[in-house]
Amino acid sequence: MGQTVGVLATRQVAVGVVEHNALAGPVRVFPDASDNPDALRTMTGDEIADLIGQQVLLCARDTQIDTVGVGFPGVIRNGVVEESPNLQQIKGFAFASSLCGALARGGLKASVLILNDADAIAAGVAATRGHLEKLIRIWYLGDGVGFGRYPQSDGVWEGGHMVVSLNPKETYCGCGGVGHLEGIVGHRSMRLRFLDMEPEEVFAAAREGDVRCSTFVKLWHRALAAASASSIHLDGPGKFFIMGPNSQYVDLGLIAQYIHEMVKMSPLQGSLFETISSSTDLAIIGAAVNARRAAVTD
Ligand SMILES: [Zn+2]
Repeated sequence: MGQTVGVLATRQVAVGVVEHNALAGPVRVFPDASDNPDALRTMTGDEIADLIGQQVLLCARDTQIDTVGVGFPGVIRNGVVEESPNLQQIKGFAFASSLCGALARGGLKASVLILNDADAIAAGVAATRGHLEKLIRIWYLGDGVGFGRYPQSDGVWEGGHMVVSLNPKETYCGCGGVGHLEGIVGHRSMRLRFLDMEPEEVFAAAREGDVRCSTFVKLWHRALAAASASSIHLDGPGKFFIMGPNSQYVDLGLIAQYIHEMVKMSPLQGSLFETISSSTDLAIIGAAVNARRAAVTD
């Protein structure tokens, strides 16, 4: 049996060989961060697939590779990118077949899985914490809100766009939908809501007792709790990991209090929330772990 390469393709392409749920060597990042931190934004789908293919073929010189997993932002089903909000040029792109083609041109036959980047992170968390037998969910709090689930399951799972408010004035979500979690919790949406303050100033002012800001900070936590409670009611209780740059603002006590108010049925009790730091490594490991699992079950 060959080895697995994990890839995270968000702003750049990061690649590593994964063995026994851990990186087996250095992670390589292309193009170099200092060259262009947002390189993928201007590339076509085939150019991104070719770039990934080249890096995988370099790994395959030293090691026998037979499986490749790629974490990528957006709605991805059956190897096709159905939607990718930050890389609009990729919408409808048959990513898996393009990457298979790029690898085949270099003489490598490998099974390829393209998966949502937050699902890759969830698998990475499960793999590195010995939770591969459990249900793991992650919230990634950045410009938008990512939701990842392990084990990977058929479906769309756009948890960041769960409706958490019936107020028709809640229109700040990047997707344009009304009342969405991301429209309250996402960084971009907070900047739209508070045109005169940065999010960090909003949270600081709330701590000082500013009424408008502390009202919002409660809403922010209530929204995250509401989306988690909806997930619990559909998928059962379990562990939620919160990460990403804006996880620094999370008050776990407040989340626990709101979850306690929102989830009352006894079999659904017992969910736990933890903030952790995210990393490219986690996504690479998780992409590889899910690709290996998919290859085994095929
Ligand atoms: Zn939305």
